[in-house]
Amino acid sequence: AGTGKFFVGGNWKCNGTKDSIKQLVSDLNSATLEPDVDVVVGPPFVYIDQVKSSLTDRIEIAAQNSWIGKGGAFTGEISAEQLTDIGCKWVILGHSERRHVIGEDDQFIGKKAAYALGQNLGVIACIGELLEEREAGKTFEVCFKQLKAYADAVPSWDNIVIAYEPVWAIGTGKVASPEQAQEVHVAVRDWLAKNVSAEVASKTRIIYGGSVNAGNSAELAKKEDIDGFLVGGASLKGSDFATIINSVT
Ligand code: PEP
Repeated sequence: AGTGKFFVGGNWKCNGTKDSIKQLVSDLNSATLEPDVDVVVGPPFVYIDQVKSSLTDRIEIAAQNSWIGKGGAFTGEISAEQLTDIGCKWVILGHSERRHVIGEDDQFIGKKAAYALGQNLGVIACIGELLEEREAGKTFEVCFKQLKAYADAVPSWDNIVIAYEPVWAIGTGKVASPEQAQEVHVAVRDWLAKNVSAEVASKTRIIYGGSVNAGNSAELAKKEDIDGFLVGGASLKGSDFATIINSVT
């Protein structure tokens, strides 16, 4: 971990029921968490209110998506204003499942980030390469292109956490090695220094996501440029998520 406050987000994706979420919240409420870590969970939209009213204030709430602009006639969408209204502090944008399953492109995601920031939401801005892109030696090129789309759209990096999530590692059990993750995190920081500012490069937290679990988080957390994690599967178990949070070094 670097100098910024460690940040751990749990992305619950499209999982859970009222009952299972009640149990998860209760497990999180009774877990002992290192104080010097920002902790955020992202429930499905329909359970945000339940989580907000039952989860300890120690943990903030993220949405998993937000609409690109002001709400209105956009069937099925949720606006950033509505998220703020219901007590969300964060939104996850640019997740690989939104990019590669739903088909969102870099510019669309950049605009969403800008709009969400304008509504005072923090943005967990995801980037990451596909397996074939890594194998073709294009990891940095892909990540920089995704970063540039954010940089071109956002007015400030103050409320952004970058999540580097190699797509081949998400939900596959194939975690990046600490060295593989560190290599990209340094490159991302370097890109920020060259293309945004030295200050943003040193202040922005860059977290890793992709098959992080209670058994591998401590080794990853030792790396200098890994400032936390975005956790999918393992965030659905309170005790595993707590172990990951407490792996801060
Ligand atoms: C994610 O979806 O952001 C993620 C990292 O998932 P998992 O931890 O399950 O690989």
